[in-house]
Amino acid sequence: MFIDRARIMVFAGKGGDGKVSFKRAKGMPKGGPNGGDGGKGGDVILRVDEGLNTLVDFRGIYEWKAEPGEGGGKKQCTGGAGNDLVVRVPAGTVVYNEETGEEIVDLGPGDEIIIAHGGKGGFGNEHFKSAVNQTPRKATPGEPGEELALKLELKVIAEVGLVGLPNAGKSTFLKSVSRADPKIADYPFTTLSPQLGIASLDQSRRLVIADIPGLIEGASGGAGLGHSFLRHIERTRIIIHVLDVAPDNGLTPAENYRAIREELMGYSSELAEKPEMIALNKLDLMTDEDQQEAMDTMRTELQLDAATEIYPISGATGIGCPALLEAAYNMLHRGKVQSGW
Ligand code: GDP
Ligand code: MG
Repeated sequence: MFIDRARIMVFAGKGGDGKVSFKRAKGMPKGGPNGGDGGKGGDVILRVDEGLNTLVDFRGIYEWKAEPGEGGGKKQCTGGAGNDLVVRVPAGTVVYNEETGEEIVDLGPGDEIIIAHGGKGGFGNEHFKSAVNQTPRKATPGEPGEELALKLELKVIAEVGLVGLPNAGKSTFLKSVSRADPKIADYPFTTLSPQLGIASLDQSRRLVIADIPGLIEGASGGAGLGHSFLRHIERTRIIIHVLDVAPDNGLTPAENYRAIREELMGYSSELAEKPEMIALNKLDLMTDEDQQEAMDTMRTELQLDAATEIYPISGATGIGCPALLEAAYNMLHRGKVQSGW
């Protein structure tokens, strides 16, 4: 888990000014006041968008401004209200007043809040007409909109956790699909803490992926390194098993898959019940024919039903990775997967 932070300024719209004007009609040189009121300024609204999972969109955009209200018009015309500005944030965003440090709100799924209210419109001179003053020249300006410096904080939680034996190729995969820079080496336990990476499928679709360091036999009993790290995937929503197609421990990919399953079940049934995907990795080392055979063998050994896919990938060359990410994304967003909340 890591903390994503952003600082922004929000400016609600100023209210429109009231208007001073008088009726002008033939034979009515001194008509009564008819200046309209100004429109309300737009609010700045923070709205949770459950499709978002990071604050990266705030990089580079510091000022967020709603529209001002329109000024009042002649003939009692009230100015139009300024458009609100909706700022989309991920669920779990905690909003602080930057100046005072005070927490304003902790936004969960479905939440929205007016973080800065638009100013009220001013009164036009018609408003000030009275028995004693038939021709008021007075109108009031619109109120200023609220302005606020905000600090946003989000605890980024991976949606997808990568599990697999040491050297299965988790770090390599993560590096290939994201900008994370995990350590990669030929020996076990290189990755000593979970690495998070954000894979962009396209402009608007992202997946937050955690590389969970190598599980070892007995880790769920507290014997090994894997144990404390497993905690980091408790809130992930999908697990991807990364399996070396030709494991260096002499076992088959299917046997290694079972070993990891045991680990997960030993650690937490909740974790073991999460939807999972199987990726058979390092397929660049094989001919197409051998790949097919490896997949078929694995399917048979694990007695997979027809609906369960094995995703052939190579973290090293990137082959198959986009398809795996697409499938993971679809799984998450078809609503079949329980949200982490
Ligand atoms: P991790 O322990 O699961 O994180 O595995 P690493 O990503 O550190 O990879 C272990 C070793 O396998 C490294 O030497 C990688 O270069 C190698 N490796 C990882 N992915 C691939 C792959 O797709 N193809 C090949 N040929 N080697 C890979
Ligand atoms: Mg690693």
